[in-house]
Amino acid sequence: MKSNKNLILWIELLFALLSLWVLKTVSFYPEHAIGTLRIYVLSMIVLTVSLVLSVRYYQSQHSTIDVDKICEMVQRIDVPAFIWSNDLSVMFANSAMDELLGITGEETEIDNAVVLSNFFHSISVSPKEAGVILSGQTLKTGLVTQNGQKRHIAWTTSVLKKNNTASLLFSIGFETTELENAKMELTKYAQDLLISQTRYDLSMKLSGVGFLLAETVREEYYVSEEAMKFLGISENCISFHDFRKKIHQDDRIKFDDYLVKIRNISNADTYGCQRILEMRIWTNNQYVWYAYQYHENLRNKDGRPIIGGALIDITNEKRKDAKIKNLAFNDKVTGIYNRNKLMHEGAKLYKMAMEAETQGYHYRYWVIVLDIDRFHIINDSCGYEKGDKILKAFAHILCEYTANSGLVARISADNFVLILQRYADDDGEPANTIEQIRESLAELAKEDFAGLSLSCSAGFASMPTPDSHDFKEVLEHAEFALAVGKGELSYLMGYDAKMHQEILYQGEMEKSLSEAIENHYLQLYYQPKVDIHTEKIIGAEALIRWIRPDGTMISPNVFIPIAEKAGMISAISHFVLCEACEQTAEWQKMGLPKIIMSINFASGDFYQANVCEVIRNQMDKFELEPEYLELELTERLALGDINYTVQQMNALREMGILLAMDDFGTGYSSLSYIQLLPLTLLKLDRSFIIEIETDKVAQEIVSAVIKIAKSMDMKTIAEGVEYKPQAEILKEMGCDYIQGYLYGKPMPPEEFQKRLEANT
Ligand code: C2E
Ligand code: MG
Ligand code: MG
Repeated sequence: MKSNKNLILWIELLFALLSLWVLKTVSFYPEHAIGTLRIYVLSMIVLTVSLVLSVRYYQSQHSTIDVDKICEMVQRIDVPAFIWSNDLSVMFANSAMDELLGITGEETEIDNAVVLSNFFHSISVSPKEAGVILSGQTLKTGLVTQNGQKRHIAWTTSVLKKNNTASLLFSIGFETTELENAKMELTKYAQDLLISQTRYDLSMKLSGVGFLLAETVREEYYVSEEAMKFLGISENCISFHDFRKKIHQDDRIKFDDYLVKIRNISNADTYGCQRILEMRIWTNNQYVWYAYQYHENLRNKDGRPIIGGALIDITNEKRKDAKIKNLAFNDKVTGIYNRNKLMHEGAKLYKMAMEAETQGYHYRYWVIVLDIDRFHIINDSCGYEKGDKILKAFAHILCEYTANSGLVARISADNFVLILQRYADDDGEPANTIEQIRESLAELAKEDFAGLSLSCSAGFASMPTPDSHDFKEVLEHAEFALAVGKGELSYLMGYDAKMHQEILYQGEMEKSLSEAIENHYLQLYYQPKVDIHTEKIIGAEALIRWIRPDGTMISPNVFIPIAEKAGMISAISHFVLCEACEQTAEWQKMGLPKIIMSINFASGDFYQANVCEVIRNQMDKFELEPEYLELELTERLALGDINYTVQQMNALREMGILLAMDDFGTGYSSLSYIQLLPLTLLKLDRSFIIEIETDKVAQEIVSAVIKIAKSMDMKTIAEGVEYKPQAEILKEMGCDYIQGYLYGKPMPPEEFQKRLEANT
């Protein structure tokens, strides 16, 4: 057949050349035109016939498929492939296909048609339909091989030849088993993930725990769904800045410290510990206590640390804590901490303050000791019930300043301690707070305790400072500052390093006290006491002064307590007794008017068994009669051991020595106690006198005290009288004597002598 086709081609070529030659010749020999035209027409016919034959041949060449050849090619393909016609007249599967279907060598020969019809059956499509459905498409099938393996194949089918009755098709399969398996695994993994996510969400919901994950580079938190609800936000992230705004003002210090810390965590750090940050967060229109339990050892892909943890509502725990603490450590009257608890908690805060300092955090604690002015008088005159109410109200005022950080404690009758945690550079503290407290107290008096004027004084110290070693010491410093402030008539006094140095200095001086006396560093000043009617000097109070070589003076309010603590007071008292007796005797010998010399007695002196003997010796030495000497005792001293006091005082009285109750109204006594003591004079404390013109309660108290004293044959003297109207009021009330700047400040002996001379 092939050789025939070639022959026709050659003839066609021959005719074509002949026709071309005829055409060419005709155009050169026009005289033979008619004969040539005939040949030409004939040639054209031959040429057309041969062209049609050629096209046909060409068409037949290009539309006929050599099935054997194709089968041969398919056999060489190493992926499953088969040739088939949808009338199943042609069926050929390659060996890769046989292998896929699990057919061994001989069987292949048997019947490809059976194999393939099985295949079409397995995919539930008849070969006829398959031809239509599959051509130009990809069919994915799952097959279970004879050894039970499940394999996935994607079939692509194309039409090789199509005629009226059947089409010849070629299908090739690509194995997608691995892909499908991976896809399935992925699907399973996604499902597992979904399940665990659901479980996680559910448990978060049930436990009420939210999550915060800090991203320190972008400075923001990833916020879990539950936490989004707490925080009232709709996005699942919030910047550090916005989160901080939701934290209670007093808890922000803690949060800021935490930020400093997490920002500084470097890649190299291997923090592993869990930390807890307790703070109040604004949630649904109120602050709620949350504990943020976070871990610092999580790592990002790039190794950067991630700080994340749970946000847990701890309101109930806080409440329970508060209840337990209340039972164990609280003051019964006010409900706030007692002294024991203060010492315990204070020690913890001291430790925290020291740590914070070493780590460079910028906050410190202020330890403030507060004292309600003249509280004991109020207690005495208004009754304990009212006194307790005032204490409670005062505690309540203080608590407002320690809502979160710091604490409040009542350490004795009217002494409270307030500890504030504030930024280190806030220099306005604690003065601002103390001013506010005083204002609140005045307000309280106006509203709930009509007619009373309530005020308080405060001394404070801060921690950490280089001049303290523990909390006890800081508290002592604050108490010391309070005492110094009171001495200087200031309601507010901060402890500072200068004071500390003074103490150190005095500490050294304690050791050389006798030397100081010898060198006349300690001197007695005398303050006149005058008769309220005649305004003549009837006596003097000897007040000690420590004058340093550079001329600076240290207040006895500062060094007497130190001397008492250090056990040096008896040396001072001895000096005072000698000096005062000698001076009085000298003035008497000079013929100056008779005066009663008062000296202040410290408890260390008073409780010495030989006190009477010591005094008698001095009187004898300077030939002074006992009625020239008056001992001033404070309430605290007198009431330390009431039986002993009464015994000792009786002995002194028997000697003829006068006894005065100093600073009456500032101590712990009530009038009923005073009545037990053989006193000759009651000294009304300066604090009553300061407000006697305006404070009705003070007036009533002073008037009542004067009356009671009179009824007991006791004289009364008012301390700290600075203005004439004060003296006038006291005169009207029946007070006997006056002492104060109005009639002279404490002065050196020479000056006092001049006053005495003028007195005559
Ligand atoms: P005190 O015994 O109550 O002494 C009265 C204090 O009030 C004195 O302070 C005196 O200077 C001050 N004063 C008197 N009148 C006025 C006034 O009108 N206005 C003002 N603002 N103050 C006035 P001073 O001398 O600083 O003594 C303070 C305290 O130190 C004394 O209080 C006393 O408790 C103690 N003290 C002083 N000398 C001795 C002493 O020799 N031995 C002992 N054990 N204690 C002493
Ligand atoms: Mg005195
Ligand atoms: Mg006094």
